[in-house]
Amino acid sequence: MSQTQTIETQLLVIGGGPGGYIAGIRAGQLGVKTIVVEGVNAGGTCLNIGCIPSKALIHAAEEFAKVASYAAGTSPLGISVQAPALDLAKTVEWKAGIVRKLTGGVSALLKKNGAQLIKGWATIVDGKTVEVAGAGEDGGALRIKCEHLLLATGSDVVELPFLPFGGKVISSTEALSPTSLPKHLIVVGGGYIGLELGTAYRKLGCEVTVVEAQDRILPAYDAELTKPVATHLQKAGVKVLVKHSVLGLSDNGALRVRDPDGAELTLDADQILVAVGRRPKTDGFNLESLGLDLAGKAIRIDDQCKTSMRNVWAIGDVAGEPMLAHRAMAQGELVAEVVSGKKRHFMPAAIPAVCFTDPEVVVVGLSPDDAKAQGIEIKTSMFPFAANGRAMSLESTDGFVRVVARANDHRILGWQAVGVQVSELSIAFVQSIEMGATLEDIAGTIHPHPTLGEAVQEAALRALGHALHI
Ligand code: FAD
Ligand code: NAD
Repeated sequence: MSQTQTIETQLLVIGGGPGGYIAGIRAGQLGVKTIVVEGVNAGGTCLNIGCIPSKALIHAAEEFAKVASYAAGTSPLGISVQAPALDLAKTVEWKAGIVRKLTGGVSALLKKNGAQLIKGWATIVDGKTVEVAGAGEDGGALRIKCEHLLLATGSDVVELPFLPFGGKVISSTEALSPTSLPKHLIVVGGGYIGLELGTAYRKLGCEVTVVEAQDRILPAYDAELTKPVATHLQKAGVKVLVKHSVLGLSDNGALRVRDPDGAELTLDADQILVAVGRRPKTDGFNLESLGLDLAGKAIRIDDQCKTSMRNVWAIGDVAGEPMLAHRAMAQGELVAEVVSGKKRHFMPAAIPAVCFTDPEVVVVGLSPDDAKAQGIEIKTSMFPFAANGRAMSLESTDGFVRVVARANDHRILGWQAVGVQVSELSIAFVQSIEMGATLEDIAGTIHPHPTLGEAVQEAALRALGHALHI
């Protein structure tokens, strides 16, 4: 009979996603003896079934749609080609190759920095002990005793009880590894995942209908910002049903939906992607035995990611919104440093959010409405890509950059943008806020020409009353 083996470490991390693996790397760099336990795949949701594979699929779909538009003879560029064909298995394998490379890299980076990665499902015994079934040397249980326990268990997809996953009802995980494309895909939820993947499927040639419960898509963003996305969806032939609630499947497998007037409709679909949010993963590993304070469904943490139990920490999606990979990574790095004895607090001036729709959307810091709600007097201005030469040369003049600054000292409080490739502008936005820049700082910085970034400078100039290209 196999024995329970016991080992000891300073820091034990449950979960090898972006939060957990970054904590492991940084703790290793700082000489903290660290073990990361991962039950599925190193890299977590982000690298395996989230950020990276979704962006790969979005890129493949964009390329396909671009060639298809040339083949349709509608390109003003004078390019014409034969209609493209898609070898879906090859596309999915290309995406899987990127995932393999990155997840392999995570294991290698942990090793290089002296942190140990243990494969297996961790179950909490107490605040200083975790058991991993089957991870002992003789195949028995491995008991790990630690000084610090870091919970980085991420999140799970939300399932609608009246539309459970299975058969034609899929989550983003299945949508990222299709074996064939549906003729008609219904997407339930017009948020991040629904719109990113819904748009990609449309570009791959599927009919797509988005069913959103709120009165507009991407309801977490301001309406002006999401308008170009809604317009583009309409142009691309994506049907968007807002203020519609989903009721379940009918006997013949159609989706039953209630419209805003209370009438019931049925929508035929080959596949239904449910993307109505994610919830912190707090079950399935005896977390409840610790009796930690919760904030809603998430673990409550302070500004050092400490939970209500001494030397038990939590980061990333399990610690609530915003459920974004870069926030999880920043918290992972911070916890490793605090555990090693450094003085750190998690107080970012802003956490950028990017939605990889077409066009892309970026939000950093305060919107005009946020600032007004906080009673801050602001100066705000936007610069349209319609007046930007680079946007014209990219055939994409939809959208704008908007800046929000404090009225009295012109300190920048927020940026919002919608347009082609604006995800790359998010870095300039967040740096300006983190470094306490003013409108004059941005207006006085030489921005290279011709770039989309010139719209950033022009938005600042316009807020100061002297934009040059409008
Ligand atoms: P996770 O990445 O979820 O990692 C947690 C890990 O813990 C998992 O690997 C899990 O197996 C493991 N685990 C849990 N419990 C145990 C246990 N008891 N024992 C052992 N292991 C355990 N965010 C962005 O910022 N940008 C994007 O573009 C983006 N796109 C996304 C697209 C999709 C389709 C999805 C689903 C998400 C996307 N996200 C994106 C969100 C992002 O993936 C998450 O915010 C991020 O992965 C959270 O990191 P984490 O370390 O907190 O958790
Ligand atoms: P989401 O919160 O972004 O969107 C869910 C949408 O579903 C909302 O618009 C909501 O109103 C709608 N909804 C809820 N219940 C519904 C119902 N019964 N019928 C119809 N609509 C309903 O959630 P998501 O798209 O599932 O993504 C989950 C999380 O993953 C995001 O919140 C984000 O944190 C992360 N993510 C980030 C990115 C990125 O950073 N680019 C991409 C994908 C996912």
